[in-house]
Amino acid sequence: MPTLNDLLKILEQNNKKGTNRVPIFPAFRRHKADYDLILIRLAYDFAEQAHKGQIRKSGESYIEHPLATAITLAQMGLDQDSIIAGLLHDVPEDTSSSLVEIEKNFGPEVAKLVSGITKLGMIKYRGLEKYAENLRRMFVAMAQDIRIILIKMADRLHNLKTLKALPEEKQKRIARESLEIYAPIANRLGMGGVKGELEDLAFPYVYPEKYAWLKKEILPAIELKMEYVKKVIEVIKKELAKENLKVISIHGRAKRLYSLYQKLQKPHYNGDASKIYDLVAIRIIVPTVADCYQTLGLIHRLWKPLPGRIKDYIAQPKPNGYQSLHSTVFCLDGKIVEIQIRTLEMHEQAEYGIAAHWHYKESGRQPKKIGEKGYMLPKKMQWVEDLVNWQKEIHDNKQYLDSLTLDFFHNRIFVFTPKGDVIDLPEEATPVDFAYHVHTWIGNHCAGAKINGQMAGCDDRLKNGDVIEIITEKNKKGPNRDWLKSVKTQAARAKIKSAAAK
Ligand code: MN
Repeated sequence: MPTLNDLLKILEQNNKKGTNRVPIFPAFRRHKADYDLILIRLAYDFAEQAHKGQIRKSGESYIEHPLATAITLAQMGLDQDSIIAGLLHDVPEDTSSSLVEIEKNFGPEVAKLVSGITKLGMIKYRGLEKYAENLRRMFVAMAQDIRIILIKMADRLHNLKTLKALPEEKQKRIARESLEIYAPIANRLGMGGVKGELEDLAFPYVYPEKYAWLKKEILPAIELKMEYVKKVIEVIKKELAKENLKVISIHGRAKRLYSLYQKLQKPHYNGDASKIYDLVAIRIIVPTVADCYQTLGLIHRLWKPLPGRIKDYIAQPKPNGYQSLHSTVFCLDGKIVEIQIRTLEMHEQAEYGIAAHWHYKESGRQPKKIGEKGYMLPKKMQWVEDLVNWQKEIHDNKQYLDSLTLDFFHNRIFVFTPKGDVIDLPEEATPVDFAYHVHTWIGNHCAGAKINGQMAGCDDRLKNGDVIEIITEKNKKGPNRDWLKSVKTQAARAKIKSAAAK
């Protein structure tokens, strides 16, 4: 059972560290940690008073829920307003205390966050037709202030942990909503830890039989592999020491059950867990990027890598910011093991994503959000703005959902302009998608493209790392309607249609 002291302890540690985690993207510096513990205590008292006498279905007093939420936020290293909003997030909904009172006591920023969370709380899962609407609201909230989503995630995590006490129908609804709405968003925000936890908590409620099967059939295999991996880790430790390579930590990590379940669904695996090489992976955390490559070299001297399974996500990060080196090797006794190597910063980024580089601007003064007072989204978050803009244009829910599956949840690739600017597009995007992404005029006048210096067609598929140069024709009348068959982005589609309508 968490207590106020647990929360204060974490905040105190954050304060001692001075600044929080080092950012992955150097342009964004973590905020200075200077939590006012007295104010946090007051917020706790305020919430406790407001929820007095309320008992959750699970039997505990209500205050435990907002407290658990605030503790998660403190672990993520979020700022003071977020922690206070976490403590107060259910106050206006459930009690007679009003937002006005919150604003009076804790300021307009906290009040804004709490009201954002309250509005999001009105989203209920009502089947797929409501799904798009729910996503819309999430994105609007996100664009207003990304912290609203982070608090909502922490809130949801605790609700899932106490789901047992609710009636079955409600359990299913909340769990399904977590899988279909919250987890994908956490993933897109790069919060791998939160995504994995949400999924594994929801999994048993949504697919009880599958979960039971997995636990019975696969868990023993995982435990066996864990034992084996322990031996491998000892060998690696010795070898690293011989070469004077520093390690921060080295451990085995079992694949999360829900992601295992999803992988087993794919035709290639067809339910056969012996084909899954990363059931248990070895994770090596080292101080610097140079150490990552040196460590990989050492591993490959010890054990031969499987062809085609070396992945350098440091040079080419995943679209959600994930960085690591992955390699699968023929290890001790010829067994196959996946090794993941990363720095501590990369590790925190992988766990907490956007929250790991929560920041004030470099100057240290209060940053302005584009257009209004508040926080600025890091550049990486441009897609949130894009989504909100599209949803203003697209009124049909079905169409909005289609565009989301195309652009948002689809795997992304990184391609480059001739000047070396990085542009991220959905997989299988074409030069036309690229052209419209750069500028509408360039899209409308696109006559051809060079991919890596070679002439290419407008409907060729782009690959990760391609350098694209668009050839335009000034006198071209407009886009070809044929392009509609091949483009992958909603933006290109809409612009081709609107140019053709003129
Ligand atoms: Mn709540």
